Amino acid sequence: MSTTPYLSDRINNLSESATLKMTKLGRELASKGINVISLSVGEPDFNTPDNVKAAAKKALDDNFTRYSPVPGYPELRQAIVDKLKNENGLDYEPSQIVVSTGAKQSLSNVILTLINPGDEVIIPTPYWVSYSEMVVLAEGKSVFINTDIESDFKITPAQLEAAITPKTKLFMFSSPCNPTGSVYSKEELEGLAKVFEKHPNIFILSDEIYEHINFVDKHESIAQFDSIKDRVIIVNGFSKAFAMTGWRLGYIAANKEIAAANDKLQGQTTSGTCSIAQRAGIVAYNDGLESVQAMKEAFVRRRQLVYDLLNDIPGVKTNLPEGAFYFFPEVSSFFGKKDSQGNVIKGSADLALYLLNEGHIATVGGDSFGNDNYIRLSYAASDENLKEALRRMKEALGNFV
Ligand code: PMP
Ligand code: GLU
Repeated sequence: MSTTPYLSDRINNLSESATLKMTKLGRELASKGINVISLSVGEPDFNTPDNVKAAAKKALDDNFTRYSPVPGYPELRQAIVDKLKNENGLDYEPSQIVVSTGAKQSLSNVILTLINPGDEVIIPTPYWVSYSEMVVLAEGKSVFINTDIESDFKITPAQLEAAITPKTKLFMFSSPCNPTGSVYSKEELEGLAKVFEKHPNIFILSDEIYEHINFVDKHESIAQFDSIKDRVIIVNGFSKAFAMTGWRLGYIAANKEIAAANDKLQGQTTSGTCSIAQRAGIVAYNDGLESVQAMKEAFVRRRQLVYDLLNDIPGVKTNLPEGAFYFFPEVSSFFGKKDSQGNVIKGSADLALYLLNEGHIATVGGDSFGNDNYIRLSYAASDENLKEALRRMKEALGNFV
């Protein structure tokens, strides 16, 4: 990691986001006229639904152009409360909702709100790249629980129990998971909830941003268990379900103290998020999930396509993810091999760079997600691009000497 002496330790100790870095490198190569297929950044390749875009245009015409309340417009917080009730069977009040500039800010707000220097945060690996770095920013200590493809990348209650110490303050995870697509069932969540029942000082950050991209069942939230609900902070947002990544709209649902604390933090940092995005968010939630359904159908088809093509590459091992739009295949059989210039592939980051430079496909090394034996591929791309990307991947991986 490069450091600059006059910058703060906080920033010098922070790693660059690997998802965004690989996407940047892919764009740079593309700007030189090279046909790069990007499977690096996790964002739906669909457009925001028309009803949501129309709501944004109307918001402008109606002059929703001024500062909004810091935790979000009351109508948006109410729409979120209604969604949590109708879709998840969960009871919240608007005062328990804080809307932020993307789920990313919501996560960061929660961590900064709860973590003191030295507090431990339990994170199952693989995890989304920014989790551990947000903990670094808060001067907390990440405690990882390792999982692998054999356990479908899910932890057991016994593993959770073993990771808990008197310093544990927070547990954070995503289901459906980025980067593995794994989905915890109600029974599995209940098993974890029973452990948390025994440890009343631990909070649970439940990142549910891929809630609607679930191919197995209806979404299950760990907040459904009343014995721990007050300690669960749900994070969710509009980026994935409504293809609104650029709009920057996310939120938390939490107990009133945590919500008020996030409101206070946000009031000193960013204020309320974009007024126009918020007005559009109200319509997205109130109009329902029709557009999400169409996206999901495409993801189901592409998942099968990529699964079959990955299984056709010697040395690559994969599971069939149950949600989100990522594959996280095992690729360690390629470590130690040399490219045509004699460079040795030492780990997943090298392999991702090799695939970018030799195969012109952008992926992300698993090391940034906490498991170096894997790479992440997003299949939020057209069927045509996916077929071509996997063809290139097979060819590039077959070229090692
Ligand atoms: N959580 C997870 C697991 C993610 O993959 C992402 C990336 N979209 C986010 C949170 C942040 O989403 P956003 O800031 O776009 O709402
Ligand atoms: N969450 C997406 C990803 O994992 C978006 C990029 C990012 O914010 O990291 O690729």
